[in-house]
Amino acid sequence: MALIVHKYGGTSMGSTERIRNVAKRVAKWARAGHQMVVVPSAMSGETNRLLGLAKELAPAKPADAYHRELDMLAATGEQASSALLAIALQSEGVQSVSYAGWQVPIRTNSAYTKARIESIEDDRVRADLQAGKVVIVTGFQGVDEDDNITTLGRGGSDTSAVAVAAALKAQECLIYTDVDGVYTTDPRVVPEARRLQTVSFEEMLEMASMGSKVLQIRSVEFAGKYKVPLRVLSSFTPWDIDLDEESKSGTLITFEEDEQMEQAIVSGIAFNRDEAKISVLGVPDKPGIAYQILGAVADANIEVDVIIQNVSKDGRTDFSFTVHRNDYAKTIDLLKEKVLPGLGVQEVVGDAKICKVSIVGIGMRSHVGVASKMFRCLSEEGINIQMISTSEIKTSVVLDEKYMELAVRALHRVFDLDQPAAA
Ligand code: ADP
Ligand code: ASP
Ligand code: MG
Repeated sequence: MALIVHKYGGTSMGSTERIRNVAKRVAKWARAGHQMVVVPSAMSGETNRLLGLAKELAPAKPADAYHRELDMLAATGEQASSALLAIALQSEGVQSVSYAGWQVPIRTNSAYTKARIESIEDDRVRADLQAGKVVIVTGFQGVDEDDNITTLGRGGSDTSAVAVAAALKAQECLIYTDVDGVYTTDPRVVPEARRLQTVSFEEMLEMASMGSKVLQIRSVEFAGKYKVPLRVLSSFTPWDIDLDEESKSGTLITFEEDEQMEQAIVSGIAFNRDEAKISVLGVPDKPGIAYQILGAVADANIEVDVIIQNVSKDGRTDFSFTVHRNDYAKTIDLLKEKVLPGLGVQEVVGDAKICKVSIVGIGMRSHVGVASKMFRCLSEEGINIQMISTSEIKTSVVLDEKYMELAVRALHRVFDLDQPAAA
């Protein structure tokens, strides 16, 4: 008997029929003798629907007061799906109780719409488990120290599940979704993508942070920090498949580089079009300039990603960086109004129609020429690279967004990701 956490995403919870299917699957695990905690997302489309209603009434605003209400609103999606799942489990003859984040409680900081989990009290959940109940805990939400409801950012139910698993020291956290594991790249974009049997924690972290939304990045961070065994698998298999078979399916996130692992140099390709590029032209090339520009951006709570500073010519240089597309207008305004007038900069220009494509693989540590193979592939496709950034196990390029799918498919082919990994 083990304590297991299951997480079901929006599509998996998308209708009463699917919720019944989830209930039957969870009941199977409970009847096999496991203590079960289940973390559901809102029914698919519900979070978007709710946030859309808010936007109809008032366009997005930076104010905290507005974001507080967005969280109050969006959190209802998970509350509804959790209660429905508890009802479905009860109708299967399984004792079940659901809790909203604040009832557990899952404590977070007060950063509305992107709050971070700080602690989870486990007494209530443990008492229910002891009493033989299946406990449902809402995904995506928590409560701050003033009892305001907070949410964890889009895709945040993954993080709720892993954090709950860490707090309860669960034997495993199973993330059930609408694909049957982690693929070499998004199978919706590249049909030839292959499922990985295992992926190392570090690779998963890079893939998530570079845009593979199959797991929210913070969930991977949590799994790494607390060594939570994590598996991504399908909720669309028949609910009554053999439990052992089910528990070995999908993709396991591993913490050790063991011999058996698929040892491709590049394990996966991630991409996103959520970023925008900003270039500050004709910056005087002197100490402190990067800090003056990027310090002000950071103070405004805007995250900066790829940064490039060119060689200077005649004492001036160009400085480019990327920000989340939602922060694009805000960053340009901030620079134009507050930062640049004092710096004697010539111009600020931007481009919101970019994308970032990244190749990720632990094998890049020990192989040379991987990045150049990437660049050659893109040049053969006639795709211009605007920016490059690298880490030990990834290389990212910023491209015109119209080339994104072409680039991903070409790279997938060039790195043999559509071929089964060599044994
Ligand atoms: P859920 O609602 O279950 O949380 P998400 O939509 O958040 O599901 O994540 C699953 C989706 O992630 C898949 O449907 C797939 O399109 C996308 N995805 C992106 N990259 C990958 C990848 N490398 N492997 C698998 N799925 C991926
Ligand atoms: N319902 C939330 C969202 O749509 C959280 C999640 O699904 O993980 O982003
Ligand atoms: Mg998700």
